[in-house]
Amino acid sequence: MNIIFLGAPGSGKGTQAQKVALENSICHISTGEVLRKEIACGSDLGKTVQEILKKGELVSNELVLDLLRNFLDTHKECKKGFILDGFPRNIEQAEQLDNFLLENKTKIDYVILLKVEDNIIIDRLSNRLYCTTCSLTYNKYTNPPQSSGICDKCGNELIIRNDDRPETVKTRLNIYHSQTEPLIEYYKKKGLLVGINGNQEPENILSEILGVLQ
Ligand code: AMP
Repeated sequence: MNIIFLGAPGSGKGTQAQKVALENSICHISTGEVLRKEIACGSDLGKTVQEILKKGELVSNELVLDLLRNFLDTHKECKKGFILDGFPRNIEQAEQLDNFLLENKTKIDYVILLKVEDNIIIDRLSNRLYCTTCSLTYNKYTNPPQSSGICDKCGNELIIRNDDRPETVKTRLNIYHSQTEPLIEYYKKKGLLVGINGNQEPENILSEILGVLQ
């Protein structure tokens, strides 16, 4: 089973994708996460994209498709199925993905859209904490770690992501509306889109998604 998770930054894509991947024993591929790891390890690629991520802009389509191809090449277990989280982010990437899937004789089975209003997104992102080691996210108020500023899972210090600062969130939301939202129509036309209300308890969202996938 191959799935795309679509939604604004902060809509819960990453959290839900991690859980759904675990439930279905398939790969979770977050292009944002791959880019952040490159930045963290100080690679040439990381140095090139650092400023782009900090500003909340998109890296080039060529670069992100190369990253995806490379991820799939080096993670053969993804042949069993994968969840794309954060890719595609515009029509050109979606078309490139279609070609890639065709070449590899595979397809997307579902596109799950998590629907959350902008004011809720802004509120969520301004209170989000992130673990650079295991990528878990928390919310200072609605889902705080047991010990302040420390990840429950790996015990490392939690940070505020560079791109979760208010001015950058505005840019990311603008890009989402102008470049990513057209994908809703794109996948609706293909009969793949399933919309889920992303403004409910995470457990309820998860059970709705699992219900769709059954
Ligand atoms: P995310 O973790 O999905 O919010 O992504 C964080 C950042 O990584 C984005 O704001 C972009 O700068 C970059 N990024 C992630 N995925 C893509 C993509 N498919 N195309 C272009 N840039 C991306």
